[in-house]
Amino acid sequence: MVDELKNIIRDVPDFPKKGIIFKDITTLLKDAVSFQRMVDLMGHRYVGKRIDLVVGIEARGFLVGAALAYKLGAGVVIVRKPGKLPYKTHKATYSLEYGEDSLEIHEDAISKGHNVLIADDVLATGGTASAVISLVEKLSGNIVECAFIGEIEELKGRRKLEPHPVFSLLKF
Ligand code: AMP
Repeated sequence: MVDELKNIIRDVPDFPKKGIIFKDITTLLKDAVSFQRMVDLMGHRYVGKRIDLVVGIEARGFLVGAALAYKLGAGVVIVRKPGKLPYKTHKATYSLEYGEDSLEIHEDAISKGHNVLIADDVLATGGTASAVISLVEKLSGNIVECAFIGEIEELKGRRKLEPHPVFSLLKF
């Protein structure tokens, strides 16, 4: 079942830069059976874990995060690129597998002690998720786990997220 999900994700070589093999999840998202299976398999892991909020990372993380939150009966928090959130924000800067960027969160998005699940599509170097971890920690959220559809293992991104637990449904 997991192999089927892995096979439906499209590899796009040299996007957005030469040498990067982009894991394109749009092919998984548009397939109703695969999308439901992905959400069920990931969500099942957190049933009963009292997740209050799922934090989705712009942009594909919104899709994973919102679907997981719905399944878990949790709320959704969005972490966005700079200048997109309308209210007061905290900001974190990080390096990507291909460049550098910043992310923002509303300063009142998470209350102290809320159980938080961080969600995104792909874990590569871990720079993005570690920036999100710092934002959640700034708001005193309790990070239960960081969850990804897939993980590019050779980039060892999960090391950057230590000591927080990391789950990925698929290994690339
Ligand atoms: P990183 O910060 O290096 O872990 O990169 C993770 C973020 O960049 C995620 O939001 C991914 O959507 C995106 N990303 C990085 N590398 C890839 C890749 N090879 N394929 C698909 N998405 C990627």
